Amino acid sequence: MPLLNAQKVTKRFGGLTAVDRVDFVIEQGMIASLIGPNGAGKTTFFNCITGFYRPEAGAIVFDGQALVGARPDVITARGIARTFQNIRLFANMTALENVMVGEHPRMKANLFGAIVRDPATMAEERRVTKRARELLDFVGLRKVENEMAKNLAYGDQRRLEVARALATDPKLLLLDEPTAGMNPQETGAMVGFIRRLRDELGLTILLIEHQMKVVMTISDRVSVLDFGVKIAEGTPAQVQQNPRVREAYLGKEYLREHEAAE
Ligand code: ADP
Ligand code: MG
Repeated sequence: MPLLNAQKVTKRFGGLTAVDRVDFVIEQGMIASLIGPNGAGKTTFFNCITGFYRPEAGAIVFDGQALVGARPDVITARGIARTFQNIRLFANMTALENVMVGEHPRMKANLFGAIVRDPATMAEERRVTKRARELLDFVGLRKVENEMAKNLAYGDQRRLEVARALATDPKLLLLDEPTAGMNPQETGAMVGFIRRLRDELGLTILLIEHQMKVVMTISDRVSVLDFGVKIAEGTPAQVQQNPRVREAYLGKEYLREHEAAE
């Protein structure tokens, strides 16, 4: 049984079909990539999986359970976490606090406990802090745990977002353009980091990625969206050779020039 099985998922905005009958299956332990031009529907597809949008049609089964219609927090609790195309950290909170926020939905403490600070609440706080520090260790940010998020280097902010996502204890991690805005060195480090998430934590990973070099290096499988439709899927090599993909992704102009030059 695949970890995630999406069938004929469709999401419309008015007259625009942003995601059009997309079938998408991810096996446990896989690193899968979703690529396609700007506006192809990649982020919208993520939003359907995480419950932020409810698709008009289609079925999504995760870990044996139907997802469509479940609230985002319920989907998170079932084991799907994500990061965002535009970093969404609490800029004026420390790195440690940002990760603790990720654990918050899992905490049992109530308002009474938070005010009175009874032993159970304090024990839980210690547990959450310890776990947040472990996650910061894993992503290499333990030394900057007391820095404000806004003062961290860009690559570090991206890793901090991942640490916060990990705090929800996911099985499937969705990364929306994790290398966006990174220099080549940061990008290389991110590629290694994503591999570690799979190899050391056993996560299954779906990433949206623009840099072809990253996609080709890291993916077990690549799926291509164009105007909401999945136009190709296969190994990186297969997808790279696909004429429809070359046309959609690289543009007809590019191909004309490229082929003329050959
Ligand atoms: P990608 O992530 O592949 O760049 P998106 O999923 O962000 O693409 O967008 C797909 C299409 O859906 C685009 O045409 C975009 O303008 C449109 N779209 C995305 N979100 C909304 C929304 N909330 N309301 C209306 N249109 C949207
Ligand atoms: Mg997007």
